Amino acid sequence: MENLIKGLFFQYISLSSFLRILKSNIPLDLEIIKNHYRSLSDTKIKDIAKFEARALRPEVIPVLKQEIINRKLPEELLDFLDRKLLRPTELEIINYCKIIQKQRCPSCYKRSTNLNATNYKYVISFLFGCVYRVKFKIACPHCLNKQVRNASIKTFLLGWWSFYGFIHTIDSLIFNFRMFRKHHHNIPNETLKDFVCKNISIIEACKESELRMQDFLKNPDNNARQLSINPEEYYDL
Ligand SMILES: [Zn+2]
Repeated sequence: MENLIKGLFFQYISLSSFLRILKSNIPLDLEIIKNHYRSLSDTKIKDIAKFEARALRPEVIPVLKQEIINRKLPEELLDFLDRKLLRPTELEIINYCKIIQKQRCPSCYKRSTNLNATNYKYVISFLFGCVYRVKFKIACPHCLNKQVRNASIKTFLLGWWSFYGFIHTIDSLIFNFRMFRKHHHNIPNETLKDFVCKNISIIEACKESELRMQDFLKNPDNNARQLSINPEEYYDL
């Protein structure tokens, strides 16, 4: 009974506590999940493969596949699982983007305009080097502009004062300037599409809860598994 409870907990952990788990990196006990899958009916295993695969953590997928093989369930299920986990279709990406775009802005909390995404860079120079950061943000166009403008001003004032800082400052200011144009698209821009494409399982896991979605959108750097540009890309020289 204890294993069953643990199994239920761990199987749905990606649905109920996905963000918290991702942040805390709590390791999954795959043995418990194996035992839990063993205890389920064929119908339930098929349902998980068909309808819940994207919300499961990636390390659980091989366990699910093995269970399908062990039970000699139709091989099409394995193909289906692989196809589902491949890059989603353009239509699916657009639909997930719409879910994000209709959310309240995580910065100003207004819901008046469609949200979009941006990448921006900033540089701070020290005496012997600089810190160079690439960041990602989802918000309404007004808040995106504000964030990128602030990053550009900070870079303009503090970025020049070292050799590498000088180079990164020029790159960052040009990069930020180009991103401004993409904030006001009513349709999802490429940055948002790319982000959505790489985080569908998280969006799927929190789309029913505005609170969880807001938490995700507020800190995508911390929550997202992969961003269009690696947020850790920086140089401490
Ligand atoms: Zn806003």
